[in-house]
Amino acid sequence: MTGKTKIAAKTFLKKGKLFQSIKGMADILPIDQDYWRSFWQTAFKVSSRHGFYFIETPILEPASLFEASIGATTDIVEKQMYVFKTPGGDRVALRPEGTAGVMRSYLQHRLSYFSLPLKVFYLGPMFRHEKPQAGRYRQFHQLGFEIIGDNSAFYDAEIILASLDFFRALGLNDLILKINSLGCRVCRLAFRQELKNYFSAYKKELCPDCRRRLGRNPLRILDCQEPSCRTLKSGSPNILDYLCQNCNNHFKAVLELIEDNGIKYELDPHLVRGLDYYNRTVFEFVSSGLSFSLGGGGRYDYLAEIIGHRLVPAVGISLGLERIVEALKIKNISPIKRKRPLVFFAAISEEAKKKSLGLMEKLRAADIPVVEALGRNSLKSQMKAADKVKSSLVLILGQKEIFEGSIIIKDLRTGAQENILLDKLVEEIKKRLS
Ligand code: AMP
Repeated sequence: MTGKTKIAAKTFLKKGKLFQSIKGMADILPIDQDYWRSFWQTAFKVSSRHGFYFIETPILEPASLFEASIGATTDIVEKQMYVFKTPGGDRVALRPEGTAGVMRSYLQHRLSYFSLPLKVFYLGPMFRHEKPQAGRYRQFHQLGFEIIGDNSAFYDAEIILASLDFFRALGLNDLILKINSLGCRVCRLAFRQELKNYFSAYKKELCPDCRRRLGRNPLRILDCQEPSCRTLKSGSPNILDYLCQNCNNHFKAVLELIEDNGIKYELDPHLVRGLDYYNRTVFEFVSSGLSFSLGGGGRYDYLAEIIGHRLVPAVGISLGLERIVEALKIKNISPIKRKRPLVFFAAISEEAKKKSLGLMEKLRAADIPVVEALGRNSLKSQMKAADKVKSSLVLILGQKEIFEGSIIIKDLRTGAQENILLDKLVEEIKKRLS
């Protein structure tokens, strides 16, 4: 801490204020740990079922990586990126999403040698300076699945199936897939012109941002949430009417595959997603009773070319984990519960406390979760702590027990209490917990 920051912190505390987390950035508290444990466990389970490897890329990347890939005229790049200069003078950004970093890593490490296509997943925080509201934060976590190195429709369907596997494993069964195709760079050109013609006729009714977008990137108008732009959008040209033969065949193949697998979907010709790197299939998962999507993704066949000068077809999705916590809470779906610390260790003399660490290690080595409150002196306050964590068994070690080489087991479920030999500790606990 420098002298200046020390003074600033002191002045702050003098005013009687407590430091608060930054607006839009929330703490994940112990009370929600079962949700996050479920996400990690389920992500690994589903990924190994579908053959995805784990990848983690840095939170900081060159700002230009996102500007080039997500697109200079997108909201994320124009308004929401945390960009700053490092003390060394590099322009960096807190990652607003995971795909660009994963593709950077794929190209940098030539990951195609690993498997073809490469299937990877990641789970970590993303940062966007958005207006905080329900389901919209400035720091949020995404679980992403990416398949890199294959342009077949099979993999568009596989990304959708892996996501549904994750949702179902958490107990979310009522998801609806919204799906669209954005075509390739050839057929999108004609659509772009049609959009431009259509919205130009209503230029005055567009919001100032969309008036600007009209010239540079009219597709982004379809993504605008301003009421006036949303109304205009409903009468705009339909991209599916402009797909070239190849894009049409690809989209048809994806729809056939998901239909064959019994997936409910809705065609949404206005779905463009907020990132420019998408082409062909784009999709989003929504759920009844929720005002926000739980995940979204699509194909990004040109991304590698934009940032690495060679074409590598790819498809992926990212799921918003804070939103999934909210969905589970709203729908009253419980996450997988943690194994409770069933055994509480209480020690009532300094010597007993010293001995207790070794005994607890023995129990833990046998995979028995055990907790303690050894900073407390009286048995009464240690029993209170045992009650707080809802333990089933309390072990009590005092001077007499050390002398006899024994320990007391109190079963809080029945109130029964018994002395057992320390040599038999693990065996006896296992018997009582089984
Ligand atoms: P995107 O990266 O924009 O394609 O979004 C993918 C998913 O990430 C969305 O469907 C949301 O579930 C989640 N997400 C995006 N932005 C936010 C945000 N600001 N706060 C919380 N979750 C978000």
